[in-house]
Amino acid sequence: MEQYCPLSGHSAKIEIDTNGKDVFRVECPACGKFVITEEAQREVNHRVGSRLHILLGTVREASERGICLTVTTSNIQSLLDSASIPRDPIEAMDRILMHVQRKSLSPHSYVQLYTQTDFPIAYAIVPDEFAFYLKKLVELSYLEEEPPGYFCLSINGWRHVIEVRKNERNSNQAFVAMWFHKSLYPVWKKGFKKALEELDFSPVRLI
Ligand SMILES: [Zn+2]
Repeated sequence: MEQYCPLSGHSAKIEIDTNGKDVFRVECPACGKFVITEEAQREVNHRVGSRLHILLGTVREASERGICLTVTTSNIQSLLDSASIPRDPIEAMDRILMHVQRKSLSPHSYVQLYTQTDFPIAYAIVPDEFAFYLKKLVELSYLEEEPPGYFCLSINGWRHVIEVRKNERNSNQAFVAMWFHKSLYPVWKKGFKKALEELDFSPVRLI
């Protein structure tokens, strides 16, 4: 039976987690690998609403870094609050360039990007927004596309990636492993989150 990702609706591989029968391990082409409780699956639309793209971006970004986030009803809000959302289209395009650079096996290798499943890399709301960024990156000569759907950093692109890396400290997410419980929310919000933000990190709370 075809199974669908509870966050993005893409065809996905879903298995019951070893932690319990109401916890699911999902492998989705758009969101990457994550774990979600049955309760969170039921309530995600209601709790996230128009901020779904932020949740998709956060889960995918963590997955790209090899971190498997667990989405529960008690941490959805924190995941949204602590998301490292691109502040403008330029930053969204930077995320795409950094992704291509990370995936490049060599300076001249081309990385395949699927608009339909890779849009969370840029926290884009819809695939069309991601397609727009890709088009602009090619027009601005940061990316070269050959054949369609395959992208390589140009020399301009590499120069830009090096510049972004120099400023990486400003956009770095700091993952904080902390038990998700209501009683700890003030500790997170006023403690860790505030302190890390003062140091120019974008904190993301994990469990
Ligand atoms: Zn998904």
